[in-house]
Amino acid sequence: MPLHRLAQLDHAHVWHPFTQMRDWLKREPIVITSGKGAVLRDVHGKEYLDANSSIWTNLHGHQHPKINTAITRQLKKISHSSALGFANEPASLLAAELVRSAEHRSARMSPTTRGAMLRAPHLSKVFFSDDGSTALEVALKLAYEFTRRTRGPVGRASARAGSSGASAHPKFLSLDGAYHGDTIGAVSLGHIDLFHKAYGGMLFATDKVISPYCYRCPFNKAKPERADARDYRKCNWECVGKVEQKFSAQKKRGNPYAAFVFEPLMQGAAGMIPQPTGWLKRVTHIARGHGSLLIADEVMTGFGRTGVSSPKSKVQSLFASHHEGVQPDFLCVAKGLTGGYLPMAATLTTQRVFDAFLGKYEEFKSFFHGHSFTGNQLGASAALASLEILQGKQSVVARGKLEQAFATELDTLWSLPNVGDIRRVGLVAGVELVKDWRTRKPFDLRERAGIRVCEAMAKRGVLTRPIGNVIVLMPPYCTTPVQMKKIVNALREAVTEVFPSH
Ligand code: PMP
Repeated sequence: MPLHRLAQLDHAHVWHPFTQMRDWLKREPIVITSGKGAVLRDVHGKEYLDANSSIWTNLHGHQHPKINTAITRQLKKISHSSALGFANEPASLLAAELVRSAEHRSARMSPTTRGAMLRAPHLSKVFFSDDGSTALEVALKLAYEFTRRTRGPVGRASARAGSSGASAHPKFLSLDGAYHGDTIGAVSLGHIDLFHKAYGGMLFATDKVISPYCYRCPFNKAKPERADARDYRKCNWECVGKVEQKFSAQKKRGNPYAAFVFEPLMQGAAGMIPQPTGWLKRVTHIARGHGSLLIADEVMTGFGRTGVSSPKSKVQSLFASHHEGVQPDFLCVAKGLTGGYLPMAATLTTQRVFDAFLGKYEEFKSFFHGHSFTGNQLGASAALASLEILQGKQSVVARGKLEQAFATELDTLWSLPNVGDIRRVGLVAGVELVKDWRTRKPFDLRERAGIRVCEAMAKRGVLTRPIGNVIVLMPPYCTTPVQMKKIVNALREAVTEVFPSH
């Protein structure tokens, strides 16, 4: 059969991200033409469940009437005017709403935790940008310059800073396996050799510290079990000790870290690496103790993705950091900000950081950074509608039920010998495929285990994308329990098809 006209055009001209185009050109791509709820439809009319929420962006499903209406209403007023020089209605409203939702939970916390949160930073300023990478770039630049301006001369670094009085080169600490985007600053924070090594010569140096990958942690002495490794691990929190060591060593060098950058609760592109309960609280406490700022990358985890409520307080937490009572100095959001409808991002920060950029015009202390579409009206309107849906009771209840269905369905996968670990946090899960669960032996990346399983799932009408040997499941919040079952069944059948002899 000849390729569909649109597939031909794609093959002729489109270069796809993170894709070996030689493989891509061997077969007809799935060309999506429409979507409704959790379902995507291609040019041939075949339907698929969107099991990774269109690369972790979509929250409430496609063509949500409230978001569609909000965008259309705004379209009739204006689509875009510049934030360089002008304010606009939806961006102002959204900034206020983001500030409110970033505090949402702290207002209703238990007295002890509440005390801790009240001393924590108040995120009152919002800098808009376009996507996850730019949200991180903004945080990076702000943290860098804030540190230079406020820390003053320190140790040996200050000698190099000469008479400027500013800390010379504030440094950042991020996690092993970190992925914070593809622009050069974000790549500098990243620690995935496969993606980042080639560009080493273009990057600035950052430090990394072990992330709590319990399933493959060198400090975890437990033998593999048919359960989440976080639950049966045998260790003494050595990973937290390593964080302490990093901060102490850097302090001794006379240039304490400017900021600790992390994805709270779950590292996404690292392979869906979840943090055991208590890890985030402990390491951020250490970071703060060393005078470091906290940059939370909630590009994936934000807006309810990591679950409706914190285990203790049973109140809605839109942000993963809040599940552990952590309030960062910079909160970076994108992907789900607009419900996954339009590219928009935001970096929330504090009055203290904002104030460091105030001065007389001729002091040139402004934050010299911005993008053409900063504060775009259509994106902001979609985001306002999405936040309203998210905070409505119906969404909270639906997400709670979906989370339960997710947990129940995922449990059925433990019977597969090629499933080594199942890691779920709220409505995000990674299923790690291995040669044999008893040995945790990984597939060589060249075997394309994850890709082959996802291709077999696509044949069954379920779309997702692997991270190496890890199959990602992250359905939109409107996914029904029946659709959830179909997603997990497709994964089970796909694994059995791809590895029949195991
Ligand atoms: N941070 C995290 C945690 C991400 O998952 C991603 C994208 N997968 C990014 C940053 C970069 O976002 P974007 O692709 O929108 O630039």
